[in-house]
Amino acid sequence: MESSLTARDRVGVQDFVLLENYNSEAAFIENLRRRFGENLIYTYIGSVLVSVNPYKELEIYSKQQMERYRGVSFYEISPHIYAVSDNTYRAMRTERKDQCILISGESGAGKTEASKKILLYYAVTCPTNDHMATLGDRLLQSNPVLEAFGNAKTLRNDNSSRFGKYMDVQFDFRGAPVGGHILNYLLEKSRVVHQNHGERNFHIFYQLLDGGDNDLLTTLDLERKPQNYHYLVKGNCPRLSSVSDKNNWKVVMKALSVIGFTEEEKLLNIIASVLHLGNTQFGEGEEGETYITTETQITNLAKVRTMISPLDFEQAVSARDALAKAVYGRTFTWLVEKINQSLALKDEIYHSGKGCSVIGLLDIYGFEVLQHNSFEQFCINYCNEKLQQLFIELTLRSEQEEYETEGIAWETVQYFDNKIICDLIEEKHKGIISILDEECLRPGETCDVSFLEKLEDTLGGHPHFVTHKLANGKTRRVMSREEFRLLHYAGEVNYNINGFLDKNNDLLNRNLKEVMCQSDNQILSHCFRREEVIDQKRPEMAATQFKNSLTKLMEILMSKEPSYVRCIKPNDAKQPGRFDEVLVRHQVKYLGLMENLRVRRAGFAYRRRFEAFLQRYKPLCPETWPNWHGRLADGVSALVNHLGYKAEEYKLGRSKIFIRFPKTLFTTEDALEA
Ligand code: ATP
Ligand code: MG
Repeated sequence: MESSLTARDRVGVQDFVLLENYNSEAAFIENLRRRFGENLIYTYIGSVLVSVNPYKELEIYSKQQMERYRGVSFYEISPHIYAVSDNTYRAMRTERKDQCILISGESGAGKTEASKKILLYYAVTCPTNDHMATLGDRLLQSNPVLEAFGNAKTLRNDNSSRFGKYMDVQFDFRGAPVGGHILNYLLEKSRVVHQNHGERNFHIFYQLLDGGDNDLLTTLDLERKPQNYHYLVKGNCPRLSSVSDKNNWKVVMKALSVIGFTEEEKLLNIIASVLHLGNTQFGEGEEGETYITTETQITNLAKVRTMISPLDFEQAVSARDALAKAVYGRTFTWLVEKINQSLALKDEIYHSGKGCSVIGLLDIYGFEVLQHNSFEQFCINYCNEKLQQLFIELTLRSEQEEYETEGIAWETVQYFDNKIICDLIEEKHKGIISILDEECLRPGETCDVSFLEKLEDTLGGHPHFVTHKLANGKTRRVMSREEFRLLHYAGEVNYNINGFLDKNNDLLNRNLKEVMCQSDNQILSHCFRREEVIDQKRPEMAATQFKNSLTKLMEILMSKEPSYVRCIKPNDAKQPGRFDEVLVRHQVKYLGLMENLRVRRAGFAYRRRFEAFLQRYKPLCPETWPNWHGRLADGVSALVNHLGYKAEEYKLGRSKIFIRFPKTLFTTEDALEA
């Protein structure tokens, strides 16, 4: 602990609960800024780790650093992602309870980097299991593969994850990692066919073109230049200065082989086919029929019989794009399944009867407010509402439980319960998702506007739902007639309804599905099942699918002990050393950090187990120094009496001392230094 006054002034406090003025957002941000200025990117709120992206390599992730954090408690050492990794691991081992680490923050804040550092920590510091000596490698190598297929350059992050990810790491009874399992959420498929200016398609396309050898490209009938492919030119950004596609291609190929992957050829065939598909052009015949005007290799994709289709030009283009999105999206899910097979727990370990424990890592999109918010942002922000619910449930519950087990009177904490917003979105029959589904299924003319009208009819009067019509000029910001506004726990967001129905429907032309089923490429025939074509039942719509997968995720997380990592992006320029206070303030708000701190501070600023407290401060009291031999609680009592703690400053629980004000602890720390 940095204890002397001058040091505290310079580098701030390493735990926000020690801030004197804990209700002040300005003080909070000032503390972050000071620490950031000293390259101290990590700070706690109790056991929650707040991390600010340094946008430069810091010398704090070496193997020696990992060793420093092994078996050491939070407060004995500076805050670090390794401290969270290690404490979580030890909690799993000693309490035999499954754990999870939830990482949140906006795009570019450092979530994926944090999750990789945690994995690396386990791969390096945990014992290995003889049966599964290479499991650590495979766990680590799953990252470059998923990033190649699921990450892309966006304006906000050169390596932005365009999917949500939850990964379970399973440990055997000795604490060795023995298995893993990944769940993926909502890949941004629209990127396959369209990218905004300055953005790119998924990395793998460029890696293949840049890194694949000549023979491979000839076989796939590809040319090197991304500029030759329609699906790669929309963003006008074929190359990145920060990334070498060529090198990354090698990394990905190596990773695939470590994972034990054998279907590279088929997989790359699909990637090439998507590019060819994008180059398929249509012409309009005299009678309005549409025909293909390009000689392409769509035959790669499937044995396409000459299809005469009654689609008009626009329909043909949109059917083509829908096919590209479906092919890519399903191939991605297939890839995750393949990786899961490689990481799957071996039967002999599973059935050994000795039991495994799990640490889950969640790296999922943070709350998103863009200039233009659509269906995707709606889903992402809904996900964040659910995570906030979980946070409230688990944090408040555990705070309460701690006071109860320690026998200390529970003090109520005021907080905003966002259940009302979750209900608004997901409730059966009258939630937004239900209304959206109904509108997609309703026969006759439906469109995005009729969806909005339906929302207004059903939800008018809801305190968290506003539209132009309902607002009656009362809203602060002018709304267009094509928007609805949700008052999220983290702030207001306007959603433009254009495209909601289509994106929720996510329909693929039946003929095209059929063609895919018959593909020679086994990945494709696996991804497009016959039953799907025969079965008349409509598959679940996109938002409902997402809702169901979130419900499952919440169940998984609820059964575990959570730890939190909250990531903050210090500037939009992706540059080191710049701390944009306005930007940071927004994130502090969206991440709910002030409320988090308030809850944590409501009762006591600090709590520490008796033995740890005695161990650290026993030199300050002749009765406890050099060794205290009586009951721990009595030792602590003697110590605080000697130090002159007043009754209102602290309470003794069954196994811990609770200190109400940071000042008390600082004075004691300073006495130790003196
Ligand atoms: P997205 O939601 O877009 O996927 P993210 O939160 O996962 O964003 P990352 O990809 O983890 O963001 O981080 C963005 C970039 O910031 C990284 O590529 C890296 O350059 C830098 N970065 C993040 N964390 C660190 C760190 N701890 N040390 C050094 N650089 C970092
Ligand atoms: Mg990421």
